[in-house]
Amino acid sequence: MWPDGKRCAAAFTFDFDAESVWIADDPENAERPGVLSQGAYGARVAVPLILELLERRGLPATFFVPGIVAEHHPERVRAIVDAGHELGVHGYTHTPPSRLSAEDEEAELRRALDVLHGFADRVVGYRSPSWDFSRHTLGLLDRLGFRYSTNMMDDLRPYLHPGTGIVELPVQWILDDAAHFWFSAAEWTKPIAAPSQVDEIWRGEFEGIRRLRGCCVFTMHPQVIGRPSRLAFLEALMEHVAGHADTWVASLDAIAEHARSALAGDG
Ligand code: ZN
Repeated sequence: MWPDGKRCAAAFTFDFDAESVWIADDPENAERPGVLSQGAYGARVAVPLILELLERRGLPATFFVPGIVAEHHPERVRAIVDAGHELGVHGYTHTPPSRLSAEDEEAELRRALDVLHGFADRVVGYRSPSWDFSRHTLGLLDRLGFRYSTNMMDDLRPYLHPGTGIVELPVQWILDDAAHFWFSAAEWTKPIAAPSQVDEIWRGEFEGIRRLRGCCVFTMHPQVIGRPSRLAFLEALMEHVAGHADTWVASLDAIAEHARSALAGDG
């Protein structure tokens, strides 16, 4: 499936939620600067540090950005695009599709596309807030011209959603930084994992996916992964993953387009 005799693909992806995830979670948070400051850290500190890290390692990445975040932090989104990274849609307000009517879901997608097209010509990927789909989502993505989705947990390799032009690039909570590191005052008893624990889990998953010739999609959030201890772990992990000559590190757009041709070739 992979180009140039590579055994697997790997992608470093970042959901740049900033304040939007807190407000979508509870609209009253819009009036709570302390809560919002957790998201502001992503825009203020973490995105620049992540861009420096990617430049140092010479790696491409994909950033999923809610439309409202791109409007509030345009300079950060411009920096992401100027550095050559891919932009993907992550809703407009970060509201999970299952909480929206079909009309509102379509309006969110169209508005998000409009905003992101102000920064990048090519915007073809969709990651829903919380990887949540409604029964309308897939049809909407197809109709609005999206090329890939990265939301489902039912495979290790890309596949084509039947009856659509949408390639799926599967994800899983195990490869999501939030599952391990996310902390909020609403879940006071949830422990914060050590980077060494996540390093062990992610290296193990990467090795397994590589053995099975799959696609390893790391999902991260600037406000979560962007702490100094975690960025140090991420840099070592990137060095490890990219250090395998048989591993293709690419944007999700590039992986999806390659998978599309490979899957067509398989008949
Ligand atoms: Zn998100």
